[in-house]
Amino acid sequence: MSDTEQTPVITFADLGLSDAVLKAVNEAGYEKPSPIQEQSIAPLLEGRDLLGQAQTGTGKTAAFSLPLLSRINLKAKKPQMLVLAPTRELAIQVAESIQSYARYMKGLHVLPIYGGQSMGIQLRQLQRNPQVVVGTPGRILDHLRRGTLKLDELQSLVLDEADEMLRMGFIDDVETILKETPENRQVALFSATMPGPIHRVATRYLKDPVEIRIKTKTSTIDTITQRYWQVTGMHKLEALTRILEVEEFDAMIIFVRTKNATAELAEKLEARGYSSSPLNGDMNQAAREKAVARMKKGQLDILVATDVAARGLDIERISHVVNYDIPYDTESYVHRIGRTGRAGRKGTAILFVSPREKRMLFAIEKATRQPIEKMQLPSTEDIADRRVMQFTQQLSETIEAQDLAFFQEVISNYQDSHDADPLEIAAALTYLVQKSRPLKPVVHVRERPARAERGDRNDRGERGSRRDRDNSNRSERAPRRSNQSAPHRSEDGMQTYRVEVGRTHGVEVKNIVGAIANEAGIDSKDIGRINLQDSFSTIDLPEGMPKDLFQQLRKVWVCNKQLDISLVNNNEAAGEDSGDQARRKPRRSGKPRSRSRDTSRRPSRNK
Ligand code: AMP
Repeated sequence: MSDTEQTPVITFADLGLSDAVLKAVNEAGYEKPSPIQEQSIAPLLEGRDLLGQAQTGTGKTAAFSLPLLSRINLKAKKPQMLVLAPTRELAIQVAESIQSYARYMKGLHVLPIYGGQSMGIQLRQLQRNPQVVVGTPGRILDHLRRGTLKLDELQSLVLDEADEMLRMGFIDDVETILKETPENRQVALFSATMPGPIHRVATRYLKDPVEIRIKTKTSTIDTITQRYWQVTGMHKLEALTRILEVEEFDAMIIFVRTKNATAELAEKLEARGYSSSPLNGDMNQAAREKAVARMKKGQLDILVATDVAARGLDIERISHVVNYDIPYDTESYVHRIGRTGRAGRKGTAILFVSPREKRMLFAIEKATRQPIEKMQLPSTEDIADRRVMQFTQQLSETIEAQDLAFFQEVISNYQDSHDADPLEIAAALTYLVQKSRPLKPVVHVRERPARAERGDRNDRGERGSRRDRDNSNRSERAPRRSNQSAPHRSEDGMQTYRVEVGRTHGVEVKNIVGAIANEAGIDSKDIGRINLQDSFSTIDLPEGMPKDLFQQLRKVWVCNKQLDISLVNNNEAAGEDSGDQARRKPRRSGKPRSRSRDTSRRPSRNK
């Protein structure tokens, strides 16, 4: 029994949300509020300001959206809630989440506003009088200055990922916006870290805020081998399928966030030939017990579960825990992986971490005081090897145990009448047998080691501990200009791209960083070296950029030029002149960039 099992479960219905919002949340399949939701919803409903230290993945979007939406007056056709987010990608994502939580609020309009999108479209959408606006600070400020966005009836303002906004050079814009909002508006500030400038904004603009910090508990787990895979370039389901093919497991529990996801994933795994079942709070006790009993007896190999449903689960056979969706907090992680390594056995835990969830990975390592080892996904060759091995094993077993007289006769007749080579016959038969599950699987996804699998982790060793890095002076990693001459080699795990905008077009490093970060949703810390030339520039980006992203980036405008990005071959930058070279080491820390540097104003408007 775990601690959590004895604490009563708080439900969304206990928190005082509006009926419409509650209905949407129930439909989303959320079983219970995440810790940050438990703590934020009530004070935000009361109209209090809030200072929340929480990472992405903790459920913070719902933590502020649900209560703030519950307070909206649908009759008033003016912006009442404004969310500022650092990137276009996040703005869209937050707007979509809000839209889904507001699906039963008839007449509610949510509008995402971000740089790079046509002003004309945004102006038309603004005329529809959205009550909720989600945007990047630069573009929001543009509209405020043009008078096309009015905040005089604003009730609440959310600063989401404030430290990222600081890092991207938006903090002045954020302050300007804050000053243009009514004195009595409610402010909720969320940030994964609390660097000085964010703290100052909080002190200056938040009134008696409720402070929330999702605490991490320490514990150690020694019988469990922990690994993580950084979600890149491939869907999680594809990655999971590869792992299932190659990993030797007895029974497995896979954790997802929602009840709906338990059913969906279990179904997909069944379709791929794995005996799987969901395990969630919607299933009645008898159904849950039945699934657990089947797993104990070996009739079922995979359970796809939510945290609540899997509490206290004790099945010796579970050799593997897969965190398909990262947990909200370190405590749930510890609890989840404790489902394996039971009764003195060894267990394996695998965690899927998207780039945005990296901080949670670090938090988990810190809390468990154990490094989580990066893992490489099995390649198609690994899968082929494994399938061939299984096939030859089956072959031996069949030759040994099966009466083959009739089949020998069939083949012998064939051989005689066709004068065929026995090896060729065997090969043709093998081909027929493997058709539905090819011994050499076709690659339909790009294969490449995830960036983290090559760089991040090693960096740690080479550059000292994360803490050291976090505390190191940011400006050391600032893009600094030097007269190193091109060509250069791409950094490890990076590829060099050429963009058709250079110094003669008036471009600066910050414009390129801003455009790529915003348009491609690439975290600015993952952007490497930028080398400005006269007529073009080169930039190092993480290897294996997806095709659609590449196409999208080609069309992005910076300084009145389309980037028309292209990959530079041979790892050699196409240096025609010895350009200014801004060396940008990919940043790993969440530390703010100093104002005097390249982010002294918001990233390029991409006009
Ligand atoms: P966020 O931290 O806001 O980026 O949310 C991370 C993910 O958690 C999103 O996919 C949400 O849909 C999901 N989520 C948020 N709250 C809950 C909850 N109470 N139960 C299950 N999933 C949730």
